Amino acid sequence: MKIDILTVLPKLLESPFDHSILKRAQDKGLVDLQVHDIRDYAVDKHKSVDDYTYGGGAGMVLMIEPIVNCINSLKAKTKYDEIIYMSPDGELLDQKIANQYSLSKNLLILCGHYKGIDERIREHYITKEISIGDYVLSGGELAAAVFCDSIMRLIPGVISDETSALTDSFQDNLLAPPVYTRPANFEGREVPPVLLSGHQAKIDKWRQEQAQQRTEERRPDLLD
Ligand code: SAH
Repeated sequence: MKIDILTVLPKLLESPFDHSILKRAQDKGLVDLQVHDIRDYAVDKHKSVDDYTYGGGAGMVLMIEPIVNCINSLKAKTKYDEIIYMSPDGELLDQKIANQYSLSKNLLILCGHYKGIDERIREHYITKEISIGDYVLSGGELAAAVFCDSIMRLIPGVISDETSALTDSFQDNLLAPPVYTRPANFEGREVPPVLLSGHQAKIDKWRQEQAQQRTEERRPDLLD
């Protein structure tokens, strides 16, 4: 999969992709992730990427020209499945959407900042808008990192034990059962004995029951 992320603050995206599973996905060649600095596509000598809002009011707006220049230059080289804008009024990200996007070939993701981006970009260049929740962040960078994490970990080969991603919460509309590791007894607090029994069928049954119970207690809406 190829992912191109457009931002005015590329530094904000350095760390999330430079560790653990997301780094491994790139090292294994399973994801080619590139971060592009919108400022490199600015049209004036000051390299401006934002300007005041027409009609007045607080907050700066990302300008159309640098963003469209950047999108067009990338589009000339790659055919994108979707051109996505991270936005609080977009479609709410959930596991189903993550599963669906994990099958993409090429994605372009635009991060807004400050007050947002010039609406004409959304109208004419964006094909999908995704929100990571009903709250407002300072910029789309962390939202893009969340979205990319949710899809990259589903690509076969990224997580070494492939069944692992399939037993996480929200797959099959169930929350994940509890997990434990050594020691089996910590200050008198014991791990459920069934997990130490070595009896796989019993362990699977216990996990299934726990997942069901946890979902009933915490997220009954998932069972509807
Ligand atoms: N004025 C806008 C918010 C701008 S926040 C409004 O009220 O809707 C600045 C940028 O952060 C946005 O352009 C968007 O890219 C990103 N962002 C903020 N909250 C987000 C969320 N919940 N999901 C995805 N992106 C978000």
